[in-house]
Amino acid sequence: MISVAIDGPAGAGKSTLSRKLAEHFGFIYVDTGAMYRAVGLKFSQMGADTELNCDIEKILADTTVDIRFVGTEQRVFLDGEDVSDKIRTPEMSMMASAVSAKPPVRAFLLDTQRKLAENNDCLMDGRDIGTVVLPNATVKIYLTASAEDRAMRRYKELIEKGQTVEFKDVYDDMVKRDYNDMHREIAPLKQADDAVVADTTGLEFEQSFELLINIINKGIEGK
Ligand code: C5P
Repeated sequence: MISVAIDGPAGAGKSTLSRKLAEHFGFIYVDTGAMYRAVGLKFSQMGADTELNCDIEKILADTTVDIRFVGTEQRVFLDGEDVSDKIRTPEMSMMASAVSAKPPVRAFLLDTQRKLAENNDCLMDGRDIGTVVLPNATVKIYLTASAEDRAMRRYKELIEKGQTVEFKDVYDDMVKRDYNDMHREIAPLKQADDAVVADTTGLEFEQSFELLINIINKGIEGK
């Protein structure tokens, strides 16, 4: 099976680019951030905030997160309900970041993520795909861009969805989330030693897309 691992900080364009790349190559797209967001939503439904003063193991024992595909599109189900749209809020970004630092949550999702890559040619994006989830991925990419560019893309995305947000809040949340993701003890966000860095600062979508297609083609040919 071919697997492409794409890691990087928030707002680097991972999801949008990954979805299109998966379509282009005919692979399934696995958005692992959506799985952490679904777990974050569950904890929030159980009354927890980002402090997570709750019995994590107990809540996880009563939680199911599955992903199903409509064509190559991933939908995320929490306890049987399609929550793919509900999880795209700034609050769920922060909840996802909080739950993702907890070892039982990471263990809870790891198996599902690995099975998907065992059974399908896939493109998987997240924070620890090249370092932890798929250390033997065919191609590893570390996708990044300047914090200003990333926050602006995320801001525009939220505005397009009709959400009321301020640029400064989006920027501050993103910087905080990156810090949390890079400094947590378990599976922190970092570039895998064998990853190719793709910096999309100042690039249009099409340019980033071409850049990644070339990296992936080269990586597959080189194996
Ligand atoms: O990619 P996205 O912004 O949807 O991810 C939400 C959060 O989930 C991240 O900020 C990170 O804390 C967590 N995450 C993770 N490991 C992954 C994917 C996401 O810790 N593989």
